Amino acid sequence: MLRSRWMANWANRGPALRWVAPIVLIAGCFCAVCAHVLIEARHAALERAAQTATGLVAAIETDTIHNVESVALSIAGVVEGLKRPYIDQVSPELRQVLLFDRSTTARHLGGIMVIDETGEVHLDSRTLYPLSVNLSDRDYFQFHKGSASAGIYISRPYEDPITGQLSAGVSRRLSHPDGSFAGVVIGALRLEYFQNLFKDTFLGTDGLITLARADGTMLMRWPFQEHLLSWNLRSTELFRHFAQKRAGRYEVKIVPDGIDRLMVYGQIGELPLVVVVGQSLADIYASWRRYASIVSLLVAGLCAVTVTLAVYLARELKRRTDTEAELELRARTDELTGLSNRRHFNETLDREWGRAARAQEPLALLMLDIDHFKTYNDAYGHQAGDKLLQALGSAIKGSIRRPGDHGARYGGDEFSILLPGTEAEGAVRVAELVRACLAQTEPGEIRSAQRLSVGVACLTPKPEWQPDELIALADRALYRAKELGRNRTEIVERRSARPALRRQQGPHQAS
Ligand code: GH3
Ligand code: MG
Repeated sequence: MLRSRWMANWANRGPALRWVAPIVLIAGCFCAVCAHVLIEARHAALERAAQTATGLVAAIETDTIHNVESVALSIAGVVEGLKRPYIDQVSPELRQVLLFDRSTTARHLGGIMVIDETGEVHLDSRTLYPLSVNLSDRDYFQFHKGSASAGIYISRPYEDPITGQLSAGVSRRLSHPDGSFAGVVIGALRLEYFQNLFKDTFLGTDGLITLARADGTMLMRWPFQEHLLSWNLRSTELFRHFAQKRAGRYEVKIVPDGIDRLMVYGQIGELPLVVVVGQSLADIYASWRRYASIVSLLVAGLCAVTVTLAVYLARELKRRTDTEAELELRARTDELTGLSNRRHFNETLDREWGRAARAQEPLALLMLDIDHFKTYNDAYGHQAGDKLLQALGSAIKGSIRRPGDHGARYGGDEFSILLPGTEAEGAVRVAELVRACLAQTEPGEIRSAQRLSVGVACLTPKPEWQPDELIALADRALYRAKELGRNRTEIVERRSARPALRRQQGPHQAS
C-alpha cells in the first residue's frame, strides 16, 4: 500500500526530476566514496605516525638499557672490589686502579663515588682526594639506607659536585658482613647523554620526547629546558595510561603550549623509567590536509559540473515537455476562439457518451450557427467576421459553468456545446444564455448586433445507439431553427425510437 503510493508519487514527478534524481544520487554516492577514502587516508596518516613513534621508543629503550647496564656493571665491579680484604692496605693509587679501571669504559659515565654510612664521600673515581661533602640527604642515600635490597636505584637529577653537570645516579647499597648499612656506590650517568640521543630524532616542529622515572620525576625532556626538570609528571595523562599499560598511545592537548599531540610511550625494559614521544597532530595531518584539499576541490568541481549538467538536462527536458504539452494543446484547440476544435470535441463526445450510457444519465448537445454570417463577412470584411466568431467563443465560455460542460468550434461559423447530465430544459437555458451574451456584446467588438440559431438535442443513450445520432438530432434542430426564421432555439429530445421535434423558444430579439 505504502509502496504503491510511493510509486504513484514518483510517477507524478516531472520527467526532469526522474532524470535528475539519479544523477544527484550518483554524485552523492561519489562524494560518500571520496569522504570514505579521505577518512581512511587520515586514519593511515595517524597509524604511520604512531608506528614511527613506536620505533623511536624502541630505539631509545635499547640504547638507554645498554648505557644504564654498563654503568650498573661498573658500580658492580666497584662493589666487588671493595669486598677484597687487601683493598684498604694497598696504596691509594693502586686502589684507584683496582676499583675504577673498568668504569672508564662506560660511555657517558660522569664518575663513580663510594659514600660511607655517614654520607661522606669516601672514594671518587676521578680523584685521589675526594671532595669533603656530605651527601646523606640525597634521595639515593636515603633509599639504600632504608632498604636492604641489593638492586640498583636510579636517582633524581642532580648537579655533579665536581663537574657541575646534570646527572642521574645509578647506585647500589654497600652492606657490612652482618647486613647493616655500610654506604652507597653511585655512578653518575650524564643527562647530556639523553640530550644527544634525543636531539637527532626528527619529530616535526612541535615534537617532544620525555624521559621520566616511574614515580613521575622528569629526567630529560627534548626540546631541553632545564626548569622543566623540576616537574613531576605523576598527575599527567601519561601516568594515567602508564598505570594501566606499560606501553601504549593516546592523544592529548599538552597544557603549556596548548598543542594537540599523539603521544606514544613505553617502559624502558624492566627499569623504573618511562619514555614518551609526542608528535603534533597538525604535523601528522599536514600532508593529509593538502591531499584532502586537492581531492575536495576536485570533487566539488566534479559535483558542480554534474549538478550544472543535471540542471541543464532538467531544463531541456522541461522545455521539451512544455513544448509537447503546448503542441498537444494546440492540436485540440481552435486557434481563433480558444475553444476546443472538432477533433477534440469528437473525442469528448465519445467519452461522455460512454459515461452517460453507463450511468443512464441525460446528455445534451447544442449546435449553434450565426445567422447570415456570409452576408456579415461580405459587408464588414473577413477580420470583422473573425471578431464575431471570437465574440461567440467568449459568449460560449461565459455561459457554461459545470466542469463537464464542453464548448467547441465545430467548423466555420458553427459551434457546439456538450452538456453531460443536463436535461432539455437546462440545455435550452444555456442556449438562451449564449444568445443573450452574444446580443449584449459591446458594439465596438462586432459591427452590429448579430443573431444566432441554436439546435438543442437531448437524450439518455441506449446501448444500441451511436454518438452520431446526437449530432444528427442537434443538426436537425438547428436546421429547423433556420427554417423557422432563424434567431431562435429549437429542441429535439429522444426518449424512444423516434425523436420528437418541438419548438422550444420564440425568436430572441437582439437589442
Ligand atoms: P445561415 O444564416 O444560413 O447560416 O447563413 P450563413 O451566411 O451564415 O451561411 P453559412 O453558415 O453557410 O456561412 C458560412 C460562412 O462562414 C462562409 C464563410 O464565408 C464564413 N466563414 C467560415 N469560416 C470562417 C472564418 O474562419 N472566418 C470568417 N471571417 N468567416 C468564415
Ligand atoms: Mg451561418
